[in-house]
Amino acid sequence: MEIILFGAPGVGKGTQAKILSSRLHIPHISTGDILRLAISKKTELGLKAKAIMDLGNLVPDDIMGGIIKDVLNDPKSKNGFILDGFPRTIEQAGILDEIFKELGIKKAKLILITAKDELIIQRLSKRRECDACGNIINLNYLKDANKCPTCGSKNSFIKRKDDEVDIIKNRLKVFHKTTEPVLKYYENKSDLLVIDGTLPVDEVTKIIINSF
Ligand code: AMP
Repeated sequence: MEIILFGAPGVGKGTQAKILSSRLHIPHISTGDILRLAISKKTELGLKAKAIMDLGNLVPDDIMGGIIKDVLNDPKSKNGFILDGFPRTIEQAGILDEIFKELGIKKAKLILITAKDELIIQRLSKRRECDACGNIINLNYLKDANKCPTCGSKNSFIKRKDDEVDIIKNRLKVFHKTTEPVLKYYENKSDLLVIDGTLPVDEVTKIIINSF
């Protein structure tokens, strides 16, 4: 099964993608994670992407197209995948169509998760990653503000550079201006499932699973 998750940054695409990936046994392909890994390894791609990502802007389409082509051609993706963060421009949607054609993929399942900008700003400014286990948490929902609920590590939370309020606002601006029009591109090509991202995580998962 091929799934494309759409939605603004911080709306819960990554959370749902991880859950679906483990339930459906297909890879979660997050272009943001791929770029962050490249930055941490200081590869050529990482060096190019870092300044762009720190400002909340989009990495050029030709670079992203090359990345997604490689990942989707990998044997790990042959039984399906969940795309999280791609396509983000009309150009990228065209690149994806070409790759799908080459791979013989007729129709992907499109899912849009929605939430208001104000809520997203609140969520993302409180989002942290545990340095020890990589778990993503929200400071608003932590019982012990210094302890990771997954691995128990203390004082190990890191804030993503692009989760500063000014940068979040720019990411939302980019989403509305450049990524939202991608939905129009798919309007006549695919059915779209729209889900309220303010529902509890397990409710959102249930709606997605029940739609298959
Ligand atoms: P994300 O983790 O999906 O929020 O992505 C973090 C950042 O990575 C974005 O703000 C962009 O700078 C970059 N990025 C991720 N996916 C894409 C994409 N498909 N096209 C361009 N830039 C991307």
